[in-house]
This record gives sequence, structure tokens and C-alpha cells, in this order.
Amino acid sequence: MDTAIQFKFEVGRLQTNIINQICVVDHLTGVWNRTGMLHKLEEEYERMIRSEQACCICMMDLDHFKQVNDVYGHPGGDQVLQATTRLLNSSLRKYDSVFRYGGEEFLLCLPSTTLDDAKALMERLRGELETLEIELKGKGSISISASFGLAVMSPDEHVGGTIEQADHALLCAKANGRNNVCVWSL
Ligand code: GH3
Ligand code: MG
Ligand code: MG
Repeated sequence: MDTAIQFKFEVGRLQTNIINQICVVDHLTGVWNRTGMLHKLEEEYERMIRSEQACCICMMDLDHFKQVNDVYGHPGGDQVLQATTRLLNSSLRKYDSVFRYGGEEFLLCLPSTTLDDAKALMERLRGELETLEIELKGKGSISISASFGLAVMSPDEHVGGTIEQADHALLCAKANGRNNVCVWSL
């Protein structure tokens, strides 16, 4: 009887874990969605204070993505989003996190990374994305690009404020002609 109760308990626990996992993962791309994002960023904020190691946030937005949908249809756009996140997952480090912030916009969290290092990292990512040939099922291959806005967490700024700064830097990257990395500054 004890074993049966134990088994039922374990199944319930597993069920809860699976449900929680489904809730925080973006179904299309497999990266984190926004549900647990703030919680995770708050954790990284605390770690940044404790460890005194810089933590950067980057907002990345695909350029002219609407055109991809217009030319290749929504399924084509979906494949581009999947190829993009595959690249992000393979190119970033294990302890970096990728969140789907909106349609074709991703928030990257880069712990233990100075602003200079993050800029070099994002510059590399930008180049890799630019040269990536994305095969679309039955529709040939296409190239894309993305714009990046970067900000560093500060003990004096709440996480939401740093996200706004990264967002602001992203607007600058778009205004500068897209396909570039901009760093937030006063
Ligand atoms: P910009 O360079 O200024 O960022 O232009 P943009 O075309 O990338 O941006 P815009 O905001 O005009 O268009 C974003 C498009 O992304 C519009 C929307 O239909 C599309 N989109 C959002 N979510 C998804 C999705 O899950 N799948 C697909 N295929 N398209 C999506
Ligand atoms: Mg876009
Ligand atoms: Mg966008």
C-alpha cells in the first residue's frame, strides 16, 4: 500500500513538473517564454549583486520579418524563427538564457559578462545570423538579419529599467539602418 501511495505521489509530482515546463516554454521555438522571465532575471540580478560580476541584457529583433511572412507565408516565417533560435542555442553559452519576448523579438540574458564582452558576443551572433542560409521546406533558402540593443544591469536599476534601456538601444540599432548592435547609454 505504501508503495502504491508513493507511486501516486511521484506521478503527481511528475505531472506538475511537466505542466510547469509546458507553461514556461514557447511552443514554436522551444526557448523560454515570458511567463518565468522576470523571475529568472530577478535571480540573475541578485547573483550579479552577490558575485559582483556584470550581467547584460540584450533585446534582439529580426529585421523586416513581416516581409518574410509576406513572401514565404506564415509557415515560412515560423521556420525562420525556429532556425534563429537553433542558432541562438548553439552559439550562446550554457548559462545564457533566451526568452521569446514577442513575435520576432528575443531577450537574451548574459550573466558574468561585461558590456564590452557582451558587445563582442552580440557582434559575433549578428554576423552568424547574417551569413546563415535558412532552408525553407520546398521554397529554397533565404538570409535574414537582426538588430541588437544591449544594456548592463546595475544595482541602482531594477530589472524592468534595464529591459527598457536594452529596448531603447534596440530602437537606436533599427534607426541606424538595422543589422547592427547598439549599446544603451545616457
Ligand atoms: P523591423 O525591421 O522594424 O523590426 O520590421 P519587422 O517587419 O520585422 O517588424 P513588424 O513589427 O512590422 O512585423 C513583425 C511581424 O512578425 C508581424 C507578425 O505577423 C510577425 N509574427 C509575429 N509572431 C509570429 C509568429 O509566431 N510566426 C510568424 N510567422 N510571424 C510572426
Ligand atoms: Mg522586426
Ligand atoms: Mg518586433
